[in-house]
Amino acid sequence: MHNPTPGLPEFDYIKPASLAEASQFLAQHSGEARPFMGGTDTFVRMRDGFWKEKYLVDVKNLDGMSQINFDPATGLTIGASVNMNRVVASPEVKEYYPVLAEAAHTVASYQLRTRATIAGNICNASPAGDTIGACLVLDGSLQVHGMDGVRQEPLSTFFRGPGKTVLKPGDIATAVLFPIPPRHYAARYIKLGRNAIGDLAIVGVTALGYPDSSAPSGYRFRLALASVAPVPFRPTQAETILTQQSITATTIAEAAQAAMDACTPIDDVRGSARYRKLMVRNLTQKAVSEVWGAISRR
Ligand SMILES: Cc1cc2nc3c(=O)[nH]c(=O)nc-3n(C[C@H](O)[C@H](O)[C@H](O)COP(=O)(O)OP(=O)(O)OC[C@H]3O[C@@H](n4cnc5c(N)ncnc54)[C@H](O)[C@@H]3O)c2cc1C
Repeated sequence: MHNPTPGLPEFDYIKPASLAEASQFLAQHSGEARPFMGGTDTFVRMRDGFWKEKYLVDVKNLDGMSQINFDPATGLTIGASVNMNRVVASPEVKEYYPVLAEAAHTVASYQLRTRATIAGNICNASPAGDTIGACLVLDGSLQVHGMDGVRQEPLSTFFRGPGKTVLKPGDIATAVLFPIPPRHYAARYIKLGRNAIGDLAIVGVTALGYPDSSAPSGYRFRLALASVAPVPFRPTQAETILTQQSITATTIAEAAQAAMDACTPIDDVRGSARYRKLMVRNLTQKAVSEVWGAISRR
């Protein structure tokens, strides 16, 4: 029978004292325990009956996971449990990685962003995750604490399918890492939603470009597409066109067409596959043109 007032099912709340303890618990209870931080995906999925974990493991206050650090030699470290409002407000993010703040700002509402994290957005592995494209074009990676110690997982090979990643039982993301971005770059995130705020993306396009004298066009571009394939991804053929051919309106249109051709979207409540494809072409053209406008003036 339909339950008009759904609530959370019973579960045990676990608060480990260290990362080692947390990894061990998660590995020992594989399949029945799940880590969480902001809980904005986790509790909704539990409430709606999609996830039935016996244990929810609160990892957000463990060792160094709530810090943002910028090092001019190595780049940016965003602790996994740093909420999106802190990312948006961070002076270092605004100065060196503004596209990350731009993308985080499109997520839901201010209230939700006091809980939601970028690492949670990544680990949730929704094809529509709004911050994932910015993380991909900024060459981000995830720092992971697992049963065999600490390692880095590049985001380029992290996603395996909707809700699926390379993480193994016992793995806990502890930070998102970004190298120093290319000199004189510009980047943009364009999100198409059903309304101006508070909805998941029908299509999300991220574009980053920068001058590079070793490229035949004199520039390199990195693009990322959301909500148009089982995982967020970089349309490499479109990137190659912008690297190989001198950049004109025709080249940008050709790259936008290649981005569209790389998509394999589905029909759902937010939009049809055909609409999504066409919007990828339009929004890629818009995002690349804006980035090109910014970098060609420098
Ligand atoms: C009303 C509403 C609106 C939303 N709007 C948007 C939107 O506009 N755009 C968008 O992209 N998303 C949206 N979301 C989804 C969600 O807010 C984001 O995906 C958010 O970034 C998740 O972060 P979190 O910290 O809350 O994740 P959590 O719910 O804590 O975790 C998410 C997933 O990551 C795993 N996980 C959490 N922490 C770790 C860890 N340290 N190591 C390994 N795995 C971990 C969890 O097990 C779970 O699978 C919305 C959600 C709601 C409820």
